[in-house]
Amino acid sequence: MIPNLEENLNRIKTDIRRLSPHPDKVTLVAVTKRFPISVLQQAADLGIDNLGESRMQEALEKFEKDPLPGVIRHFIGVLQSNKVQKLVDYFHWLHSLDHIKIARKIYEKESSVNICIQVNTSGEETKSGLRPDRVSDFVKTLQKETPGLHIRGLMTMGPLTEDENRIRKAFRLLREIGDTLRPLETDTFSFREYSMGMSGDYRIALEEGATMLRIGQGLFGPRPENQ
Ligand SMILES: *Cc1c(COP(=O)(O)O)cnc(C)c1O
Repeated sequence: MIPNLEENLNRIKTDIRRLSPHPDKVTLVAVTKRFPISVLQQAADLGIDNLGESRMQEALEKFEKDPLPGVIRHFIGVLQSNKVQKLVDYFHWLHSLDHIKIARKIYEKESSVNICIQVNTSGEETKSGLRPDRVSDFVKTLQKETPGLHIRGLMTMGPLTEDENRIRKAFRLLREIGDTLRPLETDTFSFREYSMGMSGDYRIALEEGATMLRIGQGLFGPRPENQ
């Protein structure tokens, strides 16, 4: 059992009301990677209805034990192309699209999975995501090759730093990129979702207009080590 889960949840909800310019548009995705199924169940019992996982095999093992009906599932990690079938079978959202090859595979399956395009707004080489100056061309390629995909917005990871200004800049950049994509909106492509903000930086992300927070340790405490 997670001892302070309800308290942690209430604190995050309060922060959303206090800091977001549009609190009603903010979804909390509870990131349960490396936590056991009992933690997912406890979260669901408290009314948390959006869960995020980042490793396919691990996620499927949990969902096979308990499908957690009513929960919206988000895949937030790096997706390998041989896992696309699992994605469309088990997940409602993909936060990390940054390769046309993956997009083509999802399109071939005529899946209506909701998708965010991941952007590397920090310039950190270890992070996935498109370079900011490549996003618009990527969207145009998607529209040509995979027009029926359900593109919903953008995702980024804040830089690993204590420097609030750098973190804020990264989140603001994602918003600015989203604004430049407005003219490219279609029936199936929109850029209204901003998936940004984790345990350490979600307050800044809220101030900068995040609509989806991805929070693990801030809800559940320290994450168990990799097995
Ligand atoms: C693990 C993870 C998170 C959550 O991290 P916490 O520090 O536990 O809040 C968010 N986004 C992605 C992509 C992750 O892999």
